[in-house]
Amino acid sequence: MKIIEKIRAASADPNRVVFSFEFFPPKTEDGVDNLFERMDRMVAHNPSFCDITWGAGGTTADLTLEIANKMQNIVCVETMMHLTCTNMPVEKIDHALHTIKSNGLQNVLALRGDPPHGQDKFVQVEGGFACARDLVQHIRAKYGDYFGITIAGYPEAHPDVIESDGLATPEGYRNDLAYLKSKVDAGADLIVTQLFYDTDIFLKFVNDCRQIGITCPIVPGIMPINNYKGFIRMTGFCKTKIPADIMAALEPIKDNEEAVKAYGIHLGTEMCKKILAHGIKTLHLYTLNMEKSALAILMNLGLIEESKVSRSLPWRRPANVFRV
Ligand code: FAD
Repeated sequence: MKIIEKIRAASADPNRVVFSFEFFPPKTEDGVDNLFERMDRMVAHNPSFCDITWGAGGTTADLTLEIANKMQNIVCVETMMHLTCTNMPVEKIDHALHTIKSNGLQNVLALRGDPPHGQDKFVQVEGGFACARDLVQHIRAKYGDYFGITIAGYPEAHPDVIESDGLATPEGYRNDLAYLKSKVDAGADLIVTQLFYDTDIFLKFVNDCRQIGITCPIVPGIMPINNYKGFIRMTGFCKTKIPADIMAALEPIKDNEEAVKAYGIHLGTEMCKKILAHGIKTLHLYTLNMEKSALAILMNLGLIEESKVSRSLPWRRPANVFRV
């Protein structure tokens, strides 16, 4: 089923909140096994969907396909596979799309991707696409309405547009929004945002999108802070604004991992509460393949049952039923 249909169906009940979990392909076989065990436990809480990333530059293509297929057919959760244009001529794009289609997946997060390793600027590969809008257009032209297509949105504008002072110029921000609208007009039906830590920036972004006629659901991407160094690295890479009060809270506890995690859960909970209070009833959690913080936030919000949190389902490894 398309995620957009699930979200639309849920929105008929104004009190219903839906949530989803993002994972990335682990580097080792043991890591993959652990991920599926964790996923089983997390899926028991009934997320509306789960998604799996496409490694930078297409580095995890086969593994992402394999994991996506298992998520849909064995973990039995509605699955969205990320797909980027980096190093992907159209034949490879179509191989990936055919594979997930033949395994019953109906959801794709269509992305341009970052520049190939060692390059500063994104370069269109020969026979490939220049931006996510081209990929959306291709999917709609070749696969009609089969796929639900999600795209990335950037509440602070895409990092390429952000200047050395950490902000996009008003014109850069406007252009970024106009381009986002063109991705929706090309056939995308859902937006998931880049991580952010200033909830007001996200709420303004949603409002700005509505002003220019973007009507599809905009799902906030929430990344719980799990450790200080990772948080600084990720926000630096994404050029995400860190509000002063968050920095002030983290600075004295930055070497105490448990305290940082607890603060991350508190912050994530408060951010989600504010978002929900503004009538946005979909939450997307960047889990970084960890379950505790994401589940603790959902528990604090009353969205999952505490009694189910420690429930562990055995992971079964059936014969290979996939066509990769
Ligand atoms: P696009 O939407 O094509 O464009 C990015 C920006 O470039 C635009 O915001 C705009 O500022 C500018 N731009 C591009 N084309 C035009 C145009 N024609 N006119 C005007 N401006 C234009 N990366 C991975 O490698 N794997 C993943 O699985 C992955 N998942 C992600 C999931 C989410 C929710 C997000 C937010 C990001 C993810 N990324 C992932 C990172 C993403 O690949 C990078 O941010 C990349 O630099 C841009 O991809 P995009 O699809 O947003 O690009």
